[in-house]
Amino acid sequence: MTVWRDVIGQEAAVATLENAVRNPAAMTHAWLFTGPPGSGRSVAARAFAAALLCPDGGCGTCRECRTALEATHADVDVVATEGLSIKVEQARDLVQLAARRPSVGRYRVIVVEDADRLTERAADALLKALEEPTPRTVWMLCAPSVEDVIITIRSRSRHVRLRTPSVEAVADLLTRRDGIDPSMALYAARAAQQHVGLARRLARDEHARIRRHDVITMATRITGVGEAIGAAQDIMTIASEESAASSSERDAAEKARLMEVLGADPSARTQPPHIRSQVSSLEKEQKARATRFTRDVVDRALLDLLSVYRDALVVRTGAGTALVNEDSRQVVQRVADVLEAEALLGAMDAIGTARERIGANVAPLLALEAMALDLRLPR
Ligand SMILES: [Zn+2]
Repeated sequence: MTVWRDVIGQEAAVATLENAVRNPAAMTHAWLFTGPPGSGRSVAARAFAAALLCPDGGCGTCRECRTALEATHADVDVVATEGLSIKVEQARDLVQLAARRPSVGRYRVIVVEDADRLTERAADALLKALEEPTPRTVWMLCAPSVEDVIITIRSRSRHVRLRTPSVEAVADLLTRRDGIDPSMALYAARAAQQHVGLARRLARDEHARIRRHDVITMATRITGVGEAIGAAQDIMTIASEESAASSSERDAAEKARLMEVLGADPSARTQPPHIRSQVSSLEKEQKARATRFTRDVVDRALLDLLSVYRDALVVRTGAGTALVNEDSRQVVQRVADVLEAEALLGAMDAIGTARERIGANVAPLLALEAMALDLRLPR
């Protein structure tokens, strides 16, 4: 049992971090964890935090280890943004926090889960703290790749690169940690393309499996303009439903809590101005969160769809590689039967373009419609 038990398939990264725990000369005050979404960047950062705070260098069982892993340790702060960006005000708060000595442990650790979402001004604010580090404060920044983080921050941090773990490693984690049946774990790990969090959700949530199936079968259903427009709309509907399902309860609870704090009467028809303005700023925040969530769901749906064409290419070229959609071989086979390799590559390009456009703030429905029109099967 060690603190690294859930950091799967990352031997090289773990070796680097363990060395930094044991050897002061290998330690530094700013770390940049990169790796594809779902590879466990924040899991690795928390494990590192625990190892730094544990009297035994990361036993995995003591109080320091357990609270650091859960991010409830007094000297560990994990910042995860739910909006589209981390704003300068939030960065300034972090800089202030970083200047404080650790309260109980050897280090104060600040994990920024989405360092790629720092606005330029927020990054500038953080930079000062990285340039003039407070002794015993350790920054752990997480991002998909080094290119996603501004260069001045990058150059002041030590880089730890995480790889995509293997299907077997993810399945094994789901079975061991979450008690998921091994064959379900294997399906989910494969279908989620080794994204640990998504795999767990697929394994546990039948609706998520149904939604995923709806998306991958689109590849065989888009035969004309009408079907293309319909498919684009379907992806948006799936995404908004998922977003609404995950946020409505929480939004309402947040609003109720705010009203309570402000001493407002929730049954009153109109609220005094100071309450109205607080409520409206909360609603704005919730809307930004929903927008990001919907966009993330659309992106995942596009990755699912992409996997069908990639699988079809594998089938067509006769490469023996395992399919992502092993469970839906008929769908893959049908696509491989009607589209030649070049058309499959064209479809993958169309999906890649849509992802880029949505990432660059094009209205998702427009980008999806243009993509779906390119995915029409020959009659
Ligand atoms: Zn420990």
